[in-house]
Order: sequence, then structure tokens, then C-alpha cells
Amino acid sequence: MIAVFDLDDTLYEELTFVRSGFKAVAGYISDRYNISAGHTLSYMMQRLEKGREQIFDDMLTEFGLLSKTNVRKCVSLYRGHKPDISLYREAADCLDRLACVPVYIVTDGHKIVQKNKLLALGLYERVKFCFVTYQYGIKYSKPSPYCFHKICAKEKTTPDKVVYVGDNPRKDFVGIKPYGFKTIRVLTGQYREVQMGKEYEAHLKVSSLAEVNLELLRQFTGEH
Ligand SMILES: [Mg+2]
Repeated sequence: MIAVFDLDDTLYEELTFVRSGFKAVAGYISDRYNISAGHTLSYMMQRLEKGREQIFDDMLTEFGLLSKTNVRKCVSLYRGHKPDISLYREAADCLDRLACVPVYIVTDGHKIVQKNKLLALGLYERVKFCFVTYQYGIKYSKPSPYCFHKICAKEKTTPDKVVYVGDNPRKDFVGIKPYGFKTIRVLTGQYREVQMGKEYEAHLKVSSLAEVNLELLRQFTGEH
């Protein structure tokens, strides 16, 4: 039996990463232009309600600092900063409970950003291997089953022995269910209210990782 986890909003709250990145940007603007970090940070947190697209352009415009160089600087600070984030308590406990089985992570997203998160959360020490799908090519990001098949090959096992735990019904389960992978949706983070058709939904929903344990995974994979 193999346990595989998504990262963002499954093992920690992604919004805390976003805020941490905004803080790094606000700190830079404050040092460089003497504009209160509190002002730029609260502008970005409010602007976030409209999505992340162009958020640095809008913040820089608001404070009279818009230039291509400044936008680039903000993006690189955001992506490169050492994030101040931590695992959901339920996630940390769940990983402890599963210490005796092979545990993997499969996550989409910018390579460096995802690696910074995995490092900050201490996950390289806690799991067997972390797949950042973009490293293999964008086409292998979820819902592609590519990295999941790689896990089967590494573990010399079949998809029915692999359980994937994720939060996003738009892409976490639909690509792997047809191959027989088992899926659990955890109702945490920004997609917890999202409802999708049956083929997009996981086999099982749990309200937090507190409900995920060896017994449940054994039942799921038919192992005793
Ligand atoms: Mg996620």
C-alpha cells in the first residue's frame, strides 16, 4: 500500500504561502521606497479577492511604482522567498501515523516555488519522494497520471494499491481514477466548496486528514 499526497491546501493552507510571499514583497518595497509594508501588504491581501493575476502590477500602480523591472523584482521575490508556512496539524499527525508505509507527494506548480514549500515544511525528510510534475514537463501536470504511474513503477505495484489524497476535484482525481488508483478528497482550503461531476470526485471525502489512517487505507486497497 502506497500513500500519495497533494501539497497545496492538502498538507498546508496555500493562502499562508501567498501571504508569506506578499510579506517578502512588502518588505522589499518598504526598504527600497520607504512605503509602509503594512500598507502594501493589506492592499495585496484585499486585491487577492479578485485573483492573483497582475496583482503586483496593480499594487505597484497603486503606490506609483509601476515599471517592468519592479514587476519582475516582485515576482522573483515572491517565487524565491523562503516561505513562512507550516503543515496543518492534522497533516503532520497523519504523516506520523503513516510512517511505516511508503509516502509520496505529487504536486503541480512552479518548480522552485514548490521546492521552497517542500523544504520549508520539512517534507523531504518525511516522505520517500516528492514529484513536482512541472519538472517532467507541463503536459505531465495533473490530471495527467504520469507521475502516479512512475510511483507504481518505483514501488513495483499496481494502481489499486495506491491511494491519492488531494483537495482539488477539478484536477486531482479525474485523470487517475480510470486507471484504478484510489482517491480521497480532503475538504480543506480554497476548493472545499467546489462540487463536480462524478468522474471528477474522489471515491471518498473526509473533512480533515485526522480521518486518514492505516486502517482506512488498508480497507481501501483491500490489504489486511
Ligand atoms: Mg491542492
